[in-house]
Amino acid sequence: MLSVLAVETRRFASLNPATGEVLREFDCASAEEVQSAVARARAAQLAWWKLGVQRRIRILRQFQSLLHERKSEVARLVTEEAGKPYAESLVAELMVVLDAARFCCETAYAFLRPEPIPHGNLIMKAKSGILLREPYGVIGIISPWNYPFSTPASETLAALVTGNAVILKPSELTPLVALKLEELLHSAGVPRDIFQVVIGDGATGSALVDSAVDKIVFTGSVNTGRRIAQAAAPRFLPLVLELGGKDPTIILEDADLDTASSGVVWGAFMNAGQTCLSIERCYVHRSVHDRFVNACVAKTRRLRVGNGSNLETEIGPMIHERQLQIVERHVADAVARGAKVLCGGTRLPELGPNFYAPTVLTNVTHAMRIMTEETFGPVLPIMPFATENEAIRMANDSVYGLAASVWTSNRARGAAVARRLRAGTVMVNDSISAFAISEAPHGGPMDSGIGRTHGRLGMEEMVRVKYVDSDRLPTVKRLWWYGYGAGFSTAMEGFLDFLFARSLVTRLRGGLRSLGAVKRKSQV
Ligand code: NAD
Repeated sequence: MLSVLAVETRRFASLNPATGEVLREFDCASAEEVQSAVARARAAQLAWWKLGVQRRIRILRQFQSLLHERKSEVARLVTEEAGKPYAESLVAELMVVLDAARFCCETAYAFLRPEPIPHGNLIMKAKSGILLREPYGVIGIISPWNYPFSTPASETLAALVTGNAVILKPSELTPLVALKLEELLHSAGVPRDIFQVVIGDGATGSALVDSAVDKIVFTGSVNTGRRIAQAAAPRFLPLVLELGGKDPTIILEDADLDTASSGVVWGAFMNAGQTCLSIERCYVHRSVHDRFVNACVAKTRRLRVGNGSNLETEIGPMIHERQLQIVERHVADAVARGAKVLCGGTRLPELGPNFYAPTVLTNVTHAMRIMTEETFGPVLPIMPFATENEAIRMANDSVYGLAASVWTSNRARGAAVARRLRAGTVMVNDSISAFAISEAPHGGPMDSGIGRTHGRLGMEEMVRVKYVDSDRLPTVKRLWWYGYGAGFSTAMEGFLDFLFARSLVTRLRGGLRSLGAVKRKSQV
């Protein structure tokens, strides 16, 4: 008898956040579909690895040139589905991926070459060691909507060039951008089973974590990251977790206020404040506070908010009603506790469904959610400080540690403050832009996650290291093998003196003692 299973299909639509227009509807991939994608990837991965790094680099170069040719088409799609201004799609999405491809192509060959591991301990000198870097196998990438192209693509390129297969589960809010990445990679020559996109919601992501993947690289919220870590724990599934941030910026009294205010306004509002590295808290030296605040307010008022596809637009819509509500709750909480709204603080319904005016707040304190929880919206709360120590203490007063920035005309002072800030990245006289430096590692401690993406450290996350040790004297029995007894102990004591004693005389005596004992030692 046939049994019929009632399968509930979850459907969702990708929307243009500026207009609310439905771009396309999708069914979520089921757990079975995810598992079969992983099985196909696993079957294909060995051949991809055996193809060799130089052939894989050639395919990545082809991807880079295809992407370059089609940059405007891809940037328009990112703007349409994620809402960000077209200029930001070019700079923070296309440029980042084109350069990540350049970085992978330039570095992967040397990175994957066996690395000699010289031994310092004399007793081990007869051995030669090498470190091999081998692909994990199948890497699951789960990504958010705020950088729908650059986040998954830069991780994917590092995974592919090192010989892995990739299953990408993009955000349910931006699936079309992920499908464009798939189309470009396949056109460049990446085999279909080596890069696959599974479309769906959190349950589809959860199915990927529960599947037979060898590692998960997750970018998203702290809550989801925690759920993934719990699901991964029983089988020690390796993870990279790129989570949230509440990035502070410090304006020292010697900063160039015109430059710093322009940089901070951009760092707080680009991508409508929906960047993991957005400036979410600003601390300004008391002596320049009013001048700095006035400059920020004047510059914020001049920003052009609108549909990102209009080339004059500087701030697009937020992604979704849910995200607007978080911003509204944080601003209302701040105002109820005494914060002052100097500009913005409201929705802009006349522009479309998800627009929020860029907002500057003062009179804020760390008792307010706006200074402690991730807001992820276009809000810049500014607070004065009296001393450098106080600024650093307030900046470090957070459960997050993704990034931070400091503004000063004294580079040495900037570097000294940077060393005292608890963050994965600190930028002196800029913010956010380190994400676009392909060589720079991205990621931070505490609730901001585990591990790194980008740069050499990001590539290290895509490989298992294997240490291979080979003895150059295959017919000689090792001193430390069986045959323990007084002779062994005397030899070892002598050796330890020879290797580690501070006095030269003791070392020489130890050496002679151990040589004598070695001769007498009988071995099994
Ligand atoms: P989210 O955690 O809601 O979703 C991220 C992804 O996880 C989506 O693809 C989602 O479908 C999937 N998902 C949801 N539940 C899941 C589950 N139980 N198992 C597996 N996958 C699941 O985050 P979001 O709202 O898409 O993104 C915004 C967050 O991402 C912010 O907190 C932001 O700071 C963070 N972020 C961090 C970085 C970084 O590099 N550190 C970069 C960008 C965004």
